[in-house]
Amino acid sequence: MILRLRADTEPHHRQALLDELQRAGFEVTVLTSGGPAIIAVNGRAVPDAFVGRFMRTGVVEEVVTPSEPYRLAARASRPEGTVVQVGSVRIGEREPVVIAGPCTVESRDQLLRTAEAVREAGASLLRGGAFKPRTSPYSFHGLGERGLELLAEARERTGLPVVTEVLDTDHIDLVAQYADMLQIGSRNMMNFALLRKVAATGKPVLLKRGFAATVEEWLLAAEYLLASGNDRVVLCERGVRGFEPATRFMLDLNAVPLVRQRSHLPVIVDPSHGTGLRELVPPMSLAAIAAGAHGLLIEVHVQPEDALVDGRQSIDPATLAEIVRRVRLLAALAEEPVLV
Ligand code: PEP
Ligand code: MN
Repeated sequence: MILRLRADTEPHHRQALLDELQRAGFEVTVLTSGGPAIIAVNGRAVPDAFVGRFMRTGVVEEVVTPSEPYRLAARASRPEGTVVQVGSVRIGEREPVVIAGPCTVESRDQLLRTAEAVREAGASLLRGGAFKPRTSPYSFHGLGERGLELLAEARERTGLPVVTEVLDTDHIDLVAQYADMLQIGSRNMMNFALLRKVAATGKPVLLKRGFAATVEEWLLAAEYLLASGNDRVVLCERGVRGFEPATRFMLDLNAVPLVRQRSHLPVIVDPSHGTGLRELVPPMSLAAIAAGAHGLLIEVHVQPEDALVDGRQSIDPATLAEIVRRVRLLAALAEEPVLV
């Protein structure tokens, strides 16, 4: 059972309700960051008399029991939608947010030049990998802590908050020291121990869809984060494994309006991994925004042909600037997608 609290609830009224629930022996999960507070009462059913009393306090807006297995992430639990704030950037509102940067931090010069260029092009967040998941154990796996230091320096210079991936539980504290938002990669979407521990940092989380995960599995992965008390979660569609060898993955844009219908969490799209081809990145960026995405995650490199990782799908800063220009035009034009 989920108690949706009124948006204007005072923290001390919320606390009084929590105390009452806890005194009565209920186990609860509370989410307060991304919108009106949600209290999930776990385990045993709450007697009707209790529910009636909650309603009469005026603190509880509604009691809902979502039918989806991901009850905290279900749209019904926060119909207003969740807004995730990273630094001063708000993800989940009308204005699409562009997250950009190199797949991998390669050197100080490469990162700082790319960071300045993406800021100039209109990106709001800088993303770069310091710890990289690679299919082959012999490939370059990133600069590790040195990469994190460079990301922090790039943030200092540009003012852009930094997003970077956490690959395993051993590195969470280290990465969280440097990053403003933690990325869970496609290959780790179902690493439940990692999800729980990343959630516990309280940092915003960018949760990529597993490339062979259904939308329900993806939302259940998000549920792990929410059930651990962290509702600063942004979903990222990045393409699924298909039968077509001409593109790297198949960008599943159906998932965007579907997730917006089923969940209150913001959803962004990564057309770089979703296509694997830089010439497809501009049109699929626009398609994603037209489908209702709250933003984009795009791989950008100052010299894409020299990139150590994912060069074929990386665009140059001038192309990013053009995408941002068109995305803004499109977003201004588009009505909010209809939610049913
Ligand atoms: C990446 O963002 O560079 C990456 C490795 O993405 P994914 O986890 O979606 O494959
Ligand atoms: Mn990449």
